[in-house]
Amino acid sequence: MSLLTRISRLVSAPTDTPELALAQWRALSRQIPLMYVMLVSNTLIVAWTHSAVAPLELTVYVPAALAALCVVRMLMWWRNRHKVLDPQKARTNLRAMIWVGAALAIGFTAWSFSLYPYGDAYLQSQIAFYMGITTIGCMFCLMHVRAAALAVGICVLGPFAVFFIATGQQTLGAIAINMVLVVTVLLIILLSNSRDFADLVASRSAIAQRQLETQRLGEENQRLANIDTLTGLPNRRSFDRQLDLALQRAEAEGRQIGVGRLDLDGFKSINQIFGQLAGDRVLVEAARRIESLRRADTFVARLESNTFGLILAGPIDQQTLVHAGEVLCGAMRLSFEQPEGVIRLTASAGFAVSQPDDTGDQLFDRADYALSAAKREARGSAVVFSEVHAREISKVRHMEHLLYSADLDDEIYVVLQPQYDVALGATTGFEVLARWRSPVLGEISPADFIPMAERTGRISKITQCVLRKALAIGRTLPPSIRLSVNLSANDIGSTTAIEQIVALFERGRGPCQIDFEVTETAAMRDLKQANQSLLILLGLGARIALDDFGTGHSSLTHVQKLPLHRIKIDRSFVAEVTNDIASRAIVKTMVDLCRNLGISCVFEGVETEEQLQALIALGGTVMQGYFFGRPMAVDEVETYLRRERTPVQREGRAAG
Ligand code: C2E
Ligand code: MG
Ligand code: MG
Repeated sequence: MSLLTRISRLVSAPTDTPELALAQWRALSRQIPLMYVMLVSNTLIVAWTHSAVAPLELTVYVPAALAALCVVRMLMWWRNRHKVLDPQKARTNLRAMIWVGAALAIGFTAWSFSLYPYGDAYLQSQIAFYMGITTIGCMFCLMHVRAAALAVGICVLGPFAVFFIATGQQTLGAIAINMVLVVTVLLIILLSNSRDFADLVASRSAIAQRQLETQRLGEENQRLANIDTLTGLPNRRSFDRQLDLALQRAEAEGRQIGVGRLDLDGFKSINQIFGQLAGDRVLVEAARRIESLRRADTFVARLESNTFGLILAGPIDQQTLVHAGEVLCGAMRLSFEQPEGVIRLTASAGFAVSQPDDTGDQLFDRADYALSAAKREARGSAVVFSEVHAREISKVRHMEHLLYSADLDDEIYVVLQPQYDVALGATTGFEVLARWRSPVLGEISPADFIPMAERTGRISKITQCVLRKALAIGRTLPPSIRLSVNLSANDIGSTTAIEQIVALFERGRGPCQIDFEVTETAAMRDLKQANQSLLILLGLGARIALDDFGTGHSSLTHVQKLPLHRIKIDRSFVAEVTNDIASRAIVKTMVDLCRNLGISCVFEGVETEEQLQALIALGGTVMQGYFFGRPMAVDEVETYLRRERTPVQREGRAAG
């Protein structure tokens, strides 16, 4: 870079970053008014000391004009000191300031020189001193804009040195040299200072930039953490927070709010039949429909796969919720046109109204309970949590407590239901079914207490109790009779539970063989673990039946993967076999499937002669159901078997 370019750069207007221009302007707007006060005061003092010797123009008019110019500039800077300028304007002001500074420097220098001839040696020295000290002061005030400091320095120092050396006065020439040296050093310091200032501003603006970026990323993270990326709706986390807030607000204002949970029924099968992409599109469309129907004060979120949550801020009553539920479920019943075909589904919804002192979880649990009631009793529509539900819950809680504290060996007993082989014309085994006789509540159906025991983790103890009893009964029965014990998902999903079953089994084994039944849903929870558990049981000589086939996933893959010896076709198919062609076709397929896989097939819930005949015609052999015998008390089994062996009985069954 040539010297000339360097100099022109040094004295040119600031071309740096906008941040630097603004920072320079801010710094100067504090310092420049002070500079003008100093300049005007020093000038007035010099004018006063020369008032007796110099003409009026030089002691009054010219300094007054220069001072007035300074005051105008000072007021301008003072007025603008708190203004928020844009960088361009700041640059323009700085550029103007450099030119004005240079012009004033020349003006004041010329005025000072014009006074020189009138004074004696003292006054002449004062002129030199005034010019030197004022220039240094001004350069200090302008230090943040190096071009301005340089302009003032050069405009005064050049003429100053030439003038005083030219006077021929030794002392004044020496002062001029002193002045050149001091101002040169001062300029070097100011230049490095102005570089430091520029660096400081640059690093400060880089930090601010990074902070902004961090804040932006933080906000983006926060947004992503709170929305469901598929539908764009708020997610579960946001729903929970919103629910707590809405409850607090409602509590403070003495209002009630409503909470809803809406589930797309049978959504899993949409994924299976049409593919996950179609499933996703249905969810997006469902979210859009809900969004388009919501009131401004209703908050909608996607809670999990096919479940949406609603917070209705009010005003809320039972009627409003019923209406909201009907509208939403109605919107979901409209078909979803997809490239894969038209998808039709229903949605069930549960709603609950807040009570004083409710927590978000309590309120949501009530909506959830209403949803299960809707799924159970009014699939495809909405149910609002009511007093009846509250009573049901407290009954269930009471029952749970009683089951938890029950003496299982005493209160759980078993009944046996025969499994009849039509081809052999004989009962080949019994299913062992648990019953609970609570001293407080009386007889309780397994349909009630088994799911409850599974939920509360009590089921393994019940399984062990039933197995102990089955083993004891097995010791009293002929070796040809097999007993089937039901296992739950918790049993086959836990190695500890299986170890306990194995220990019991080995301790109590009798002549009669024990088999186990598992449902497909139970096996599905953890197919790998279920497979391992069933193989262990198989190793004990037990056989495994897949219970209630046709009600779960009914997947052939599972049938093949599990070590099964038998499939139990659910009674829903048997009930329809006499009057529904489709059911008959399904039953036929299942029978063929079992035959091909080399496993036996049992029909559950055979209640009538017609059903039996239909099943035999389709190739069925092993039957279980009220037609052959209801679940019976243990002491009735012996009589049942004895009666079966009588010729009359056998003929009757064989004819059936
Ligand atoms: P499951 O294992 O499928 O048992 C068959 C159920 O169908 C029994 O109901 C039985 O009484 C009933 N059933 C049999 N034949 C007919 C018929 O012809 N018509 C009709 N309508 N029903 C018939 P139960 O005893 O009420 O048991 C219900 C469910 O409870 C069982 O279904 C089983 O899943 C569970 N369960 C029962 N005992 C146990 C047990 O000891 N352990 C486990 N984990 N579950 C059990
Ligand atoms: Mg069973
Ligand atoms: Mg069954």
